[in-house]
Amino acid sequence: MRIARFTIGDDPVYGLVDGAGEKIAEVTGDPLYQRIELTGATHLVEDVRLLAPVIPRSKVIGFGRNYAEHAAEMGGEPAEEPLMFLIPNTAVVGPGDPVVLPPQTSEVSYEGELAVVVGRLCKDVEPDDALGVIFGYTCANDVTARDLQRSDGQWGRAKGFDTFCPLGPWVETDLDPSALGLVTRLEGEVVQDGSTADMVHGVAALVSYASKAFTLLPGDVILTGTPAGVGAMVAGQRVEVEVEGIGTLSNPVVRH
Ligand code: MG
Repeated sequence: MRIARFTIGDDPVYGLVDGAGEKIAEVTGDPLYQRIELTGATHLVEDVRLLAPVIPRSKVIGFGRNYAEHAAEMGGEPAEEPLMFLIPNTAVVGPGDPVVLPPQTSEVSYEGELAVVVGRLCKDVEPDDALGVIFGYTCANDVTARDLQRSDGQWGRAKGFDTFCPLGPWVETDLDPSALGLVTRLEGEVVQDGSTADMVHGVAALVSYASKAFTLLPGDVILTGTPAGVGAMVAGQRVEVEVEGIGTLSNPVVRH
């Protein structure tokens, strides 16, 4: 299933998106917590405003240097042990929402990533069981103020600004995450072209690792790292992150 969160003017609702990504069938309730039922209402995707498909209830967990070629382009080694950081849930925005560059930074980079949406409360999950706690997958842009990442040492500010965590366009619940094409486009030009098969630590390992530090809650989001090809994005540009089997997340960049 492809589960989108959207609005047609009133309160946000959820819907099931068809395989072509063109139509959306409204459902009652929140699929993360409740049994859903079709309301009978359907819309064209182009007629609704898609929202972030999930609002992380407690946290977005990120992993750094999880693709060897990206680690190399940053001048380092891949993370032998997963390199974990936290992003506040207030950084999350949805498809089409602007990424707002704050005045504190003059060097902001896109990072196209596969995002995992946790489906159930869990702790100390072993890798063999980790796929079972996953609700689904979506696309993410782990927007990073590269200058502040370097100067702060800690990554909290560099990755945690409001609007720095676009998610969407929807959550795909039926997906094998082990070898998905991942493409990022800047102004329509391909700048990252990778495969999740090249992760140093795979999805199950990352979920397990995170769960051994933090209790995971339904709706928590885990960013799995970015392939090579990161680079600057500036106001006026548009960034798209496309993950095979999910769809395309597209966001404009603006400056305050
Ligand atoms: Mg990243």
